[in-house]
Amino acid sequence: MANSAIVGINWGDEGKGRMVDLLTEDYDVVVRFQGGGNAGHTVINELGRFALHLLPSGIFRQGVVNILGNGVAVDPENLWTEMEDVMAKGVELTPENLKISDRASLLLPWHRDMDELEELRLADKKYGSTKQGIAPFYSDKYGKKTILAGELFYPEELKEHLTDLMEWKNLMLTKVYGAPGYTMDMLEKWITGACEKIKPYITDTGAFLKEAQASGKNILFEAQLGSLRDLDYGIYPYTTSSNTMAAYAPIGSGLPSAKVNDVIGVVKAYSTCVGEGPFVCEMLGEEAEKLRESGFEYGAKTGRPRRVGPIDIVATRYGVEVQAATAIALTKLDVLSYMDRIPVCTGYLLNGEQIDRFPFPTALKNAKPVITYFDGWKCDISGVRTWEELPKAAQEYVAFIEGQIGCPIKYVSVGPERDSIIIR
Ligand code: GDP
Repeated sequence: MANSAIVGINWGDEGKGRMVDLLTEDYDVVVRFQGGGNAGHTVINELGRFALHLLPSGIFRQGVVNILGNGVAVDPENLWTEMEDVMAKGVELTPENLKISDRASLLLPWHRDMDELEELRLADKKYGSTKQGIAPFYSDKYGKKTILAGELFYPEELKEHLTDLMEWKNLMLTKVYGAPGYTMDMLEKWITGACEKIKPYITDTGAFLKEAQASGKNILFEAQLGSLRDLDYGIYPYTTSSNTMAAYAPIGSGLPSAKVNDVIGVVKAYSTCVGEGPFVCEMLGEEAEKLRESGFEYGAKTGRPRRVGPIDIVATRYGVEVQAATAIALTKLDVLSYMDRIPVCTGYLLNGEQIDRFPFPTALKNAKPVITYFDGWKCDISGVRTWEELPKAAQEYVAFIEGQIGCPIKYVSVGPERDSIIIR
C-alpha cells in the first residue's frame, strides 16, 4: 500500500490537476484535504476540458473514490454548480465515487459577502482575494462559528445553530460594514437548495478511509495552491488561509494516522503568481507578455492575468524542503520553447549580499533576483515522450534545476494532455 500526496511547490497553478489526473491510474482513492473553490485545477482528457475548483481531480477515473476531506472549505452552492457542470459533460457522480466528509465545515453564504466587503474596505491595500469567502470561512472555522456538513442530518439543531450564527454575523455585516444582514428565510432557501443537493454525498469519510487503509488501498492526497501560499510557511499575509503542506494531508483528509510515503511536488518550468504580494523574480513588459501568452497564464477561477517570471531556484528549493518532496514533476517545459535564452533566478540579492535561502516574508520586498541564462532549444518539444528525445539544451535546463533543488525530477510535462509526459 502506498499513500502519496501531490502538492504545489511554488505559488500554485503549477499543474497539479494534470498530474493527479495522470497518476490516479495507480490509486483507489483521491482526497482533497484543504482549501476551497478559490483556485482551479485544469484537467484535459478524453472527456473534454475541465476547470475543477472543489472536486478532486480523480473524478474522471472509473473506480476511483473521490473525497472532500474535513480540511476543505465546502461551499454547497459552488460545489453543486461544479457537479452539475461536470455531470453535463458525461461524468457520472454518485455517492459511490464522490464522498464529502461529515466533518467538513460549510462555507456559509455570508462568507463571500465578508470577503468582498473586506477587500473593498482595504482598497489599495487589498490582498487580491478571489472573493470566494475562503479567509472569512477559515477565520470562522477556527473561531468555531460555522457548521459541519454532517449537521444537515439534524434539521432542528441545525436551525438553532444557524440562528445563533446569523445573529452574530448580522452584527458584523450591518454594524461594521453597513451591509444588509441575513434572514432565516434566506438561510432556509440555502438549506433546501444547494445543501439538499449535496446531502446524499455527505458521509463519515474518516471511517471509509480507515477501512480503505486497512484493506491496502492506495490513497492519493491532492493539495490546492503551493508551499508559498501556506498559511504558516508561505509569504504571509499573502498566503491562503489553509495549510497547503503534505504534512497536513493526514489531518485534513480524515485519516490522521496515515503516513505519506511519497510526496510529488509539482514545479512549473517558470514562475507564476496570482494576486498581490512579493514576487522577487517578476518579469515585466514585453518579455512578461510573451511568456504569459505562451503559457496562457490566466487564472482558472478569475481569468486574471498571472504575474510571470523565470523559475525561482531560491523559492523552489524552499518549497521542496517544506513539503519534504520525494519526487518532482516539472510542468510546462514546452512553454519555454520559443526563448533564445532562458533566464533562471539562481539567487537573491538582499542588503548587498547574495543569499540562496528564502528570507522572512517581510524582507522579500527588498530582495532582487540574480539571473543566470541558459541556451534555449528553439524547437517544438510537445511531442517528445522520452528523456533521450529531449533536445540537449532542454536536458541541461532540467538537470540544472534538479541539481539546485536537491530532489529528483521524475516527470517532465510537455503539454496539458494526459499523455504529454516524460517519465524518467
Ligand atoms: P493547478 O491548479 O496546479 O492544477 O494548475 P492550473 O490548472 O491552474 O494550471 C495549469 C495549466 O497549465 C492548465 O491550464 C493545464 O492544462 C496546463 N498545463 C499543465 N501541464 C502543462 C504542460 O506541461 N504544458 C502546457 N502547455 N500546459 C500545461
